[in-house]
Amino acid sequence: MEQALEMMLKERFNKSIAEASKEEIYAALLYVTKEKMRGMKRNEGKKKLYYISAEFLIGKLLSNNLINFGLFEETREVLKKHGHDLTEIEEIEQEPSLGNGGLGRLAACFLDSIATLGLEGDGVGLNYHDGLFLQKFHDNKQQEEKNPWITSDCWLNKTDVSFEVPFKDFTLTSTMYDIDVPGYHSGCNRLHLFDLDTVDEAIIHDGIQFDKDDIRRNLTLFLYPDDSDEKGQLLRIYQQYFMVSNAAQLILKEAEEKGINLYHLHEHVCIQINDTHPTMVIPELIRLLTQRGFNIDTAVDVVRKTCAYTNHTILAEALEKWPVSYLEKVVPHLLPIIRELDARVRRDYHDERVYIIDKQDRVHMAHIDIHYGYAVNGVAALHTEILKESELKPFYDIYPAKFNNKTNGITFRRWLVHCNHELAEYLEELIGPAYMENADELEKLLSYKDDEKVLDQLIAIKKNAKRKLKDYLKMSQDVDIDENGIFDIQIKRLHEYKRQQMNALYAIYKYKEIKKGNLPKRPVTMIFGAKAAPAYTIAKDIIHLLLCLQQLIDNDPAVSPYLKLVMVENYNVTKAEKLIPACDISEQISLASKEASGTGNMKFMLNGAVTLGTEDGANVEIHQLVGDENIYVFGEKSENVIKLYETQGYCSADIYDNDPMVEELVDFIISKDLIRIGDPVNLGRLYKEIVSKDWFMTLLDVKDYIKTKEQMLEDYEDEKAWAKKMLVNIAKAGFFSSDRTIAEYNRDIWHL
Ligand SMILES: *Cc1c(COP(=O)(O)O)cnc(C)c1O
Repeated sequence: MEQALEMMLKERFNKSIAEASKEEIYAALLYVTKEKMRGMKRNEGKKKLYYISAEFLIGKLLSNNLINFGLFEETREVLKKHGHDLTEIEEIEQEPSLGNGGLGRLAACFLDSIATLGLEGDGVGLNYHDGLFLQKFHDNKQQEEKNPWITSDCWLNKTDVSFEVPFKDFTLTSTMYDIDVPGYHSGCNRLHLFDLDTVDEAIIHDGIQFDKDDIRRNLTLFLYPDDSDEKGQLLRIYQQYFMVSNAAQLILKEAEEKGINLYHLHEHVCIQINDTHPTMVIPELIRLLTQRGFNIDTAVDVVRKTCAYTNHTILAEALEKWPVSYLEKVVPHLLPIIRELDARVRRDYHDERVYIIDKQDRVHMAHIDIHYGYAVNGVAALHTEILKESELKPFYDIYPAKFNNKTNGITFRRWLVHCNHELAEYLEELIGPAYMENADELEKLLSYKDDEKVLDQLIAIKKNAKRKLKDYLKMSQDVDIDENGIFDIQIKRLHEYKRQQMNALYAIYKYKEIKKGNLPKRPVTMIFGAKAAPAYTIAKDIIHLLLCLQQLIDNDPAVSPYLKLVMVENYNVTKAEKLIPACDISEQISLASKEASGTGNMKFMLNGAVTLGTEDGANVEIHQLVGDENIYVFGEKSENVIKLYETQGYCSADIYDNDPMVEELVDFIISKDLIRIGDPVNLGRLYKEIVSKDWFMTLLDVKDYIKTKEQMLEDYEDEKAWAKKMLVNIAKAGFFSSDRTIAEYNRDIWHL
């Protein structure tokens, strides 16, 4: 590495390692790494996977690529020798903002694991120039700004691959960019990101506003542009079709180049449809095959044997349904095919719940995936059961064999080795390095469960991580936290079902207790990080409440030594990597049945945090693995929640009216103390939402939640007992390696 770096710096900047600036070192490392990847072995197999996803939340790549090459330590030492610090160099890299949350991060973890397992599989998505958005706080409110990440020195490689994508009124010509994806001690795959040369960032004004009609210039500006009006929805259809038409053309081009007989496409190609955004790949492939002389029956048959679908949510509003009239305006050439697919369903099944086009003339994207794909999977055991037994039951009754579960996972290279070096090194010392490739080896840690020295060391590592986070928050947001406090962290997209509002009610509870003189034994540090979708009003109101509480507590000298609330600005992968190693309490408090899996829960567990959660998503599996002793579970179970929805049996006003404690906490949202700091419109609206609607049943679980969290704070005081819980959580996290998840996808669905 030293020689390669020296040569690169000489060539590009005519400087030595010691003379070069951080920016120059970063650029040189980027190019050295890119060159290495160019020379790397490509993963190859009889069959190739295309993982199509609207999001790839890949995070910064330098350290991860170095780790996967086995060059990380060496690079760190070389830089140190010449007076540089790799951690500071990493700060130069811009994080690509190509995702929104868990779904996009999952796609990124999967690419790492697919490459690591030596499987041939590429990602296909879009090259959004300004990503989701950059979150700033102003007057205790979220503001959205553009988040440009593409620079002259970045991981994108422009290719000469280009396709014509036909829309109703015009045809666009794409450009394909690639990012190399090296596996850990293995071969390389690619992430293909399609773009349009005419896209123009100059049309963005006033935060993230732009002309939604100007498709040539706006198509790949943003992920999930505001779709609260028709123009926004049309733009999303333009984006989706652009993504899948390019994907389908790429797949056929590569197949034809390999000399594959397209009648046997499914023997050589598998397409994984990540959520419903890529669904139009099904009619598009059928269209392209019929253009190549296939009759419709054969085209449908081949495509059905090639595509598989992953469902990520049971929230009705997230299952996409496009009006036929909108599709007519953007991709009229797909409609005869979509109508034919619907007609075939109607011919075979007389149940309007499974039709593709409903009575209101809307196309149900998930229904296309289920009828015309060969596999449907949920992302955690409970989620898959709910799909089979309620949400998608009519489909499960038709196609029981298609349904299967693939519990999500995370790559341990990023979420342990990279983000928590000190812990990774200590684990290696105890149980050897094999766990990085074979995560089940982590169980060997259990034999140290009663070893005082090991428990002390785990505590010391956690303390160090907390100190590092303290320094980072001071540097980045100028906030002070106390590393002797207990770090209680909730970081995830802001959504009512995830119930950040319930955690805010806890903050109010604790604030009031401290005011009464009931002081906690040690400071409680509550940390939040979350972006709210720009058009999601109540989510933004919840952010406003949290920021107002932060200010209230900070300015109250009677409370601030004991309680701290910090809202981290612009939560993203880089922030997650800094927060997770420092966490004591992992907040996973979604309304049972609503969180499909969660993957944040897995990252925290792997880094020795103890979960405070409902029996939801993968929390259920975490609970089974670690046992009652090592997790804190509260709240109503999913069967009961589902029943409450069915019978409309939940009424938040009843709880509010009949429980003085709950009433007091909720009333605080519109108290003088908070109205003085915040905006009465936002706080009033949130108050009213909770009292009169509370669709995600915060008040149902809030008391049990507070009680359980108080128990956790008490138990934390027995240091050794707590350290034992940390150890068990780490030891049992092996199941949540995305290497395991991908091995299962390959065994049951892909057969690469
Ligand atoms: C892991 C991750 C998520 C998903 O978190 P959940 O708690 O599972 O919702 C979202 N955003 C980022 C940046 C992540 O790293």
